[in-house]
Amino acid sequence: MKIFKFGGASVKDADGVKNVLNVMQQVGHENVLVIISAMGKTTNAFEEVIKNYFEKSPALQSSIQEVKKYHNQILLDLFDDEEHDVFYTVNSHFEDLEYFIRSNKSPNYNFVYDQIVSFGELLSTTIVSAYFNENGLYNNWIDVRNLIKTDNTYRDANVDWEATQKRITKNIKKNTLNITQGFIGADDNNFTTTLGREGSDYSAAIFAYCIGAESVTIWKDVPGVLNADPRYFENALLLNQISYREAIELAFYGASVIHPKTLQPLQKKEIPLYVKSFINPLLAGTSVSRGADLEPHIPCYIVKKGQLLLSLSSLDFSFIMEEHISEIFALFHQHKLKVNLIQNSAISFSVCIEDKFNNFMEVKNILAKKFKVTFNENVSLYTIRHFDENVKEIVENNKTVLLKQISRETMQIVTKE
Ligand code: ASP
Ligand code: MG
Repeated sequence: MKIFKFGGASVKDADGVKNVLNVMQQVGHENVLVIISAMGKTTNAFEEVIKNYFEKSPALQSSIQEVKKYHNQILLDLFDDEEHDVFYTVNSHFEDLEYFIRSNKSPNYNFVYDQIVSFGELLSTTIVSAYFNENGLYNNWIDVRNLIKTDNTYRDANVDWEATQKRITKNIKKNTLNITQGFIGADDNNFTTTLGREGSDYSAAIFAYCIGAESVTIWKDVPGVLNADPRYFENALLLNQISYREAIELAFYGASVIHPKTLQPLQKKEIPLYVKSFINPLLAGTSVSRGADLEPHIPCYIVKKGQLLLSLSSLDFSFIMEEHISEIFALFHQHKLKVNLIQNSAISFSVCIEDKFNNFMEVKNILAKKFKVTFNENVSLYTIRHFDENVKEIVENNKTVLLKQISRETMQIVTKE
């Protein structure tokens, strides 16, 4: 069985959905499991709904209506018959959403977040599945919450591999086309959970691992994995082949084409991952598999924006030693701050961190009791794998460099934005 993942950009409007059908027809669709994200920017739109809900904003209803209108327009563009069942199914998802919003009593932001954003994937898969059926691509729509089981860490759930493996083995029909949601799962109480933003790639890897799939293909609006993000760098080049190890490094440092959690499960079973263009589906794209590190062997430029650079030094000139460092890391871990770079000297210690869950100020206040704390907000972290002499020209020009660190294969540079 092959696993295909289509992200939000591939189904952002009716033409996108038509194109996905076209891709399937070109590359073959038997024995394929298709994983789909929410359409376009739907997840962001639901984040707005959640914000309005918690702020008790009068804009709550209109923000829901906007998501409704967007999906309805796609339906109208795809289906001539307004009596088609899909209109009722989509409408019933919105009724479920509105029911949740009316009746929810939980003040837990992360819980509410998952119950609401997950409608994005339920809607997109409902629409794509119906459109495929309508056009002769008969498929089996699956509610992934019956298969991917997680703990109840809402917004960042951890997979219960054993339970998930069992359910996938038992329930996935082979030799048919299956369609299901990325990004979401369910906990023991059957409440919806999510795997972290952009987590649909990871869903694809979970299925691939449990099924022992032949391959995973992530369909993108770019030709494959490039050696640099074309939004920030000129002359980005396609990488034809990358090893799992190299891909894990690139994803970890922020190459946004592959979600970082995706690679470990694939690597364990040596399942190849292809990243291909949904605009030119017959082109080879990038293959991530065992083998050559990087082909062609060229520098790769990765940038993460919106980072924090935090420096700590001891108040009494004592050394910052192992026990301080482990204490600091425990604190980061508890507050879900992700560390992307570390540098330390005798009495000072710097880290570049990402604060996805807005906990930094709390952490800073705790640290300030023990250390002298300085920090810069909104810095950029550049990571260059296999760097060469052109780095200065490409990255450092016209920027204030705050910190730089070089190891054998990797150079990291923190700059003011
Ligand atoms: N729809 C989710 C998000 O936008 C998951 C995904 O796209 O992978 O974060
Ligand atoms: Mg998305």
